[in-house]
Amino acid sequence: MISQNAIDTLRKVEIGARGLFIDGAQTDGLNGETLPVTSPIDGRQFASIADGNAADVDHAVASARKTFEKGSWSRAAPAFRKKVLTKLAELIEKHVDELAVLGVRDNGTEIGMAYKAEPLSAAGTIRYYAEAIDKVYGEIAPTPDNVLGLIHKEPLGVVGVIVPWNFPLMIGAWKIAPALAAGNCVVVKPPEIASLTLLRLAELAAEAGLPGGVLNVVTGRGAVAGEALGLHMDVDAIAFTGSGPVGRRLLEYAARSNLKRVFLELGGKSPNIVFADAPDLKQAATVSANGIFRNSGQVCVAGSRLLVQSSVYDRFMDELLKATTRLKVGDPLDLLSDIGAVSSAEQLDKNLGFVARAAEEGARLVTGGERILVETGGSYMAPTIFENVTHDMQLAREEVFGPVLGVMRFDTEEEAVSLANSTAYGLASAVWTANLSTAHRMVRAIRAGVVHVNTYGGADITVPLGGVKQSGFGRDKSLHALDKYTDLKTAWIAL
Ligand code: NAD
Repeated sequence: MISQNAIDTLRKVEIGARGLFIDGAQTDGLNGETLPVTSPIDGRQFASIADGNAADVDHAVASARKTFEKGSWSRAAPAFRKKVLTKLAELIEKHVDELAVLGVRDNGTEIGMAYKAEPLSAAGTIRYYAEAIDKVYGEIAPTPDNVLGLIHKEPLGVVGVIVPWNFPLMIGAWKIAPALAAGNCVVVKPPEIASLTLLRLAELAAEAGLPGGVLNVVTGRGAVAGEALGLHMDVDAIAFTGSGPVGRRLLEYAARSNLKRVFLELGGKSPNIVFADAPDLKQAATVSANGIFRNSGQVCVAGSRLLVQSSVYDRFMDELLKATTRLKVGDPLDLLSDIGAVSSAEQLDKNLGFVARAAEEGARLVTGGERILVETGGSYMAPTIFENVTHDMQLAREEVFGPVLGVMRFDTEEEAVSLANSTAYGLASAVWTANLSTAHRMVRAIRAGVVHVNTYGGADITVPLGGVKQSGFGRDKSLHALDKYTDLKTAWIAL
């Protein structure tokens, strides 16, 4: 883990103006416009990025297409692709402190979490897909004797990657690594408020020996650069993580342009269900508090709806309140902070809007509900719990993407299932019970991409991540993710 001394040195590093990354090098945007980069730690500008436009996207896509057709990556020997991506993973690990602090200055995630979840996780993801490159085989079909049916897996061509600001490096790597491993060229549109680590990743990739044009980064606004990528006639697929409304737009863009395939990882309103026979209520309360409040609730799988069985409700809520008040909100670059800053002043305002509406609709505020540490100039919010939440309230239906938990009671298993499935989302969930049969029944009954049992939020690269219903479709992580970035081609050979 990084030391406080190293953090304090790195947080002062001048970043300056950052350009786009196209054809293996940094370049200014074609229009010369920039966007300020403001840190949510103190509300001050500490860098700027290029405000890429449609012409820049065109430039990046053209570079990616030319490189793809040339074959220096798409048709390179698997051993070469593996060597380059393995080297990239090593370089990320070498620069882990720098990347972790840079990312925290950009988006405010507490360093303890950011360090593992961002550069270290990205390095692990890239290594995982690098190792897979020479282990995934094509197929021979069970044809009659007089023919040979071969099934090849081919890269798609140019893949657009659009990611959100909560974990840009980790989520970016979940898409970039399998796309590159499969032989595609990639154009990334990072989130406008947290672009710096993905730009640095592209530089490290060039240092690792990735040919120019294979990985390009166009920073800028979603409605400009993101839209241009979504509408581009020469982009074969878009891998997206972000909000539902933008996901819908990307489907429209695909329909209006070249029918590119679109993979959507969208939001959630994930139920965390505590049965009276949970093995350890105190531990369940501690893990549940972390499961909603770490990274200020800006986690797609956050357990934002807590369902507690009535017979243990009071006891559980006592433990939950204790666990919540133990969490220290503060400077995300202080190793003693459990929770850092909300990613931006706009996001903080949005969170406070949800708080006001929950109170208006009759939910009872148990703790929090306000902006704190105002004197820092940064965007900090107290972990917030509402109880007496009913399934028709906004807080039970819509994703806050902030440190706001809504609590509901239930009596029977059927009621828990019905409440759990009562939103438009289906990303994550959890069940706390010592009864194996209850656990298995709930795993089957809950409509979500993942059901945690007696834990919350654990996962690694070996298991797929993604949602059902309006949480999207397509899976990141695991070998299954490679399928998104390859096409099947058949050869039918008369013998
Ligand atoms: P967002 O949808 O506003 O933005 C995501 C990305 O889309 C950004 O890079 C943005 O610039 C870009 N974008 C915005 N408008 C666009 C447009 N018209 N065309 C193309 N691109 C456009 O989301 P956000 O606020 O950055 O992130 C929060 C959301 O992401 C939450 O809803 C959260 O649940 C979701 N999320 C989901 C997962 C998951 O794995 N399911 C993980 C993390 C975050």
